[in-house]
Amino acid sequence: MADDYYQILGVSRTASADEIKKAFRKLARKYHPDVNPGDKAAEEKFKQLNSAFEVLSDERKRKLYDEFGDEAAQFGFDEKKAEQYRAYKAAQAAGGRPFGGGGGGADFDLGDIFGDIFSRAGGGGGVDVDELFGRAGRGGRTAGPTPGEDITARLTLSFNEALTGTERSISLQRPGRCQRCQGSGQVGTPTTCATCGGTGKVRRGGGILGMASSGTCPTCRGTGRAAPPCPSCQGTGVLEETARLTVKIPAGVQTGSKVRLAGQGAAGTLGGPPGDLYIETIVQEHPLVRREGDDLYMDLPVTVTEAMLGAEVRVPTFQGEVTVKVPEGSQSGRRMRLKGRGSPALKGGPPGDLYLTLQVKVPEQPTHEARQAAETLARAYQADVRSTLLL
Ligand SMILES: [Zn+2]
Ligand SMILES: [Zn+2]
Repeated sequence: MADDYYQILGVSRTASADEIKKAFRKLARKYHPDVNPGDKAAEEKFKQLNSAFEVLSDERKRKLYDEFGDEAAQFGFDEKKAEQYRAYKAAQAAGGRPFGGGGGGADFDLGDIFGDIFSRAGGGGGVDVDELFGRAGRGGRTAGPTPGEDITARLTLSFNEALTGTERSISLQRPGRCQRCQGSGQVGTPTTCATCGGTGKVRRGGGILGMASSGTCPTCRGTGRAAPPCPSCQGTGVLEETARLTVKIPAGVQTGSKVRLAGQGAAGTLGGPPGDLYIETIVQEHPLVRREGDDLYMDLPVTVTEAMLGAEVRVPTFQGEVTVKVPEGSQSGRRMRLKGRGSPALKGGPPGDLYLTLQVKVPEQPTHEARQAAETLARAYQADVRSTLLL
């Protein structure tokens, strides 16, 4: 159970924007990961602080948060959905039914509004109102075909997989096309539509002014004939399913890259087109190689002899071994660039580079001869190696 955003920042519910900012700055300094390296609890606290500040520092978000408080804190806060929910409630209170939802009861699930309690997040930008309300009326029928929503699923890859690309089998829960009715929402032989009596039109509304309008019958979609609703999907044409898919991840993805699988999102209701599936990749760190964009950074250990006299050394890269020429008289920390030996570029274009930082290694347990050699070596320095230090 997440804490209240006000509690997290240690301010009262009536705190001014300035007080909120001050409280955040003070706590953020205290729990910043740079100040608490490796401290998981501090890291978690820092994340909470950021979530709380993001909402409470924005006047509009804060208002919505105040309105939906506890649920919002529990599930993570999605202001867009909260706003839609509020509009929906207001319309409902006024007696209207503005979102085309059919006969079913409006058993609206707060969990749907407040974010990512399932493994998927609403991807692809805007939340379609129909997506929220079309499926809310369980047992009811929507007015017509509605496109399915986009789905985002996260996939964790190793550092190497991200560089080389890979193929993965994944399984995910998604609203799928009902097999029994093939997505039509109806099974059996069509007869005269019971909802409209065969006219194809229904009277709608009522509302506070008692104004009724005429619309296309949602059951038969204006044809005047309908088969009984499919008992498997309650007439929606959509059923939750577990889909197993093979996903091709191209070489060069990074954390946050999105791979689109067209038409693999949620099925549309009543045969509407499906949404897309976005695979958002999370790439694990490598113990020895750091990646920045498409460039890779790695230390290259060399012996004292190699650094001093120069050498050709074998270096493993992600495109196979290469020979690297270490120039004579190289110092520890010298940086060398291997062009094109970084990560492939995801969107075409030239690959990144591999940067090597020389690291001179001395023998850890020098033999008697090594000690003598080192003493000889000490006499080869022309000046005090620390003469340039100006402290
Ligand atoms: Zn069905
Ligand atoms: Zn009808």
